[in-house]
Amino acid sequence: MNEENSKMLNNDNVCPCGGGQSCIVDRRELNDWVHEDNLFLENKLPLRKNCFQQYTNKQLKLLNNFYTNNSFC
Ligand SMILES: [Zn+2]
Repeated sequence: MNEENSKMLNNDNVCPCGGGQSCIVDRRELNDWVHEDNLFLENKLPLRKNCFQQYTNKQLKLLNNFYTNNSFC
């Protein structure tokens, strides 16, 4: 691992997924709308720290409910 990489890993703002358009950490950084954050805030659930953090059962249930009730197909 070179110095550049270890610096990046020490940065709290870098998500383990590597970042990108659908990365929740990146989107928050850019003040972009994050769908799951919106849902969790509305339902007073904790937000995930990054893309690799596991959803809690409550969060999963909420997401499942949302997608069942709002089918985009
Ligand atoms: Zn991410």
